[in-house]
Amino acid sequence: MAVSSHARRVHRGSILHFPRSTNDPANNHQYFADGVLVVENGKIAYFGEAADFFSLADNQRLLNYGGVEQHKGLILPGLIDSHVHFPQIEMIASYGKQLLDWLNEYTFPTETQFANAAYAQRQAKWFLGQLMAHGTTTASVFATVHPESVDAFFSEASKLNARMICGKVLMDRFCPDDLQDTPELGYRQSKQLIERWHGNGRSLYAITPRFAPTSTPEQLAKAGQLANEHPDTFIQTHLSENIGEVAWIKELYPEHPDYLGVYQANDLVRERALFGHAVHLKDREYQALASSGATISFCPSSNLFLGSGLFDYGRAKDAGIALSLASDVGAGTSLSLFANQSDAYKICQLQGLSLNPFESLYLCTQGAAAAMGLEQQVGNLNAGSEADFIELDFRAHPVLQQRLLRCKSLAEQLFALSTLGDDRLVDKTYVAGKLVYQKGSKVCGLSSTNGLPSLSSGSI
Ligand SMILES: [Zn+2]
Repeated sequence: MAVSSHARRVHRGSILHFPRSTNDPANNHQYFADGVLVVENGKIAYFGEAADFFSLADNQRLLNYGGVEQHKGLILPGLIDSHVHFPQIEMIASYGKQLLDWLNEYTFPTETQFANAAYAQRQAKWFLGQLMAHGTTTASVFATVHPESVDAFFSEASKLNARMICGKVLMDRFCPDDLQDTPELGYRQSKQLIERWHGNGRSLYAITPRFAPTSTPEQLAKAGQLANEHPDTFIQTHLSENIGEVAWIKELYPEHPDYLGVYQANDLVRERALFGHAVHLKDREYQALASSGATISFCPSSNLFLGSGLFDYGRAKDAGIALSLASDVGAGTSLSLFANQSDAYKICQLQGLSLNPFESLYLCTQGAAAAMGLEQQVGNLNAGSEADFIELDFRAHPVLQQRLLRCKSLAEQLFALSTLGDDRLVDKTYVAGKLVYQKGSKVCGLSSTNGLPSLSSGSI
């Protein structure tokens, strides 16, 4: 393969990814201790062993001309967070409540601020910078009820040229008046946003009823109408996160067999529908999710933090449901999908399952992309995929680094990484082949030098 165009960029280093969808990621990964990734026009043009690549004379010349970017750390595909709330980053780590009280006390007052377009823009930019700093290059993101919050998010994501999914929250009851739309207004605003953003560059729209309790039956019906009118859009919402929430659904929707049944009756359960949590499902719901092609976003740190319960990963996988991992910030306590892998492992351990480290990495790369129908675009480093990738530098984490030196296999190393890893490791983040984040330097408006806030005394 001849490489002569300046539009091409060659990255060399140790590289790991999952090239295809699989139920057995441990035996379907691809790892090159000395690999090459060639990026051309924002896409991956070549991926393979360095020895193979440089065996050709044309490519060998690149070495002589210094045209190869040498990476000392591990290169991975950009990580995918399948469920996160961008307005909630500022209320992460809020004390002492479970889901329904936590929404009323912390979430709703925070989201009210996003009626202000300038505020939404500033927060969207900062949030996206944080995603990049955590190695997350694709996310399915809840905005607020305000269309301005979605415009802010997509306009900032477009500046990075990032593959992002976002949607305006639909919510017409059981929340403050200034966070409510109506069935008709929510439909109209969502439709306008779909027309403006879905498929615009790398932006993709998600129809976003917050969850069944905060939408009237009329609003869920309008959301379903939208989903039918725009079958290639995503749907994102919450499902069976908390026991109190499930009991409330029974009161609000007594005519439906269960929580998922409410969404099914409104045509909101289909491929590209992403259901956050699914901690307290009935047998019927597992089967219905599997047969519909809808997916579950497993949100481990959030489930632990809000005391919601233990997601039954083994059961959901055995049922054949497509699964992915998600931070669910601000109920989740870290945007890092390594930190969330660690919490996922612990949740599985409490249920007698030791989650394989290849599998947990798969859940936030190729597995997430496959669950979302995006595996032709992101989640892997196959030739033809969009060139979103990250480089990890283990020197940033001495405890992990010394542990890695004692590991005897890639599986052991990956387990240490998934248990101890966090955003400290992310040295560089590339989006569509372009460097958008480099640790310690200001890239794309991201500064890492904010002062320490002063702490006031008082109790929580
Ligand atoms: Zn959520």
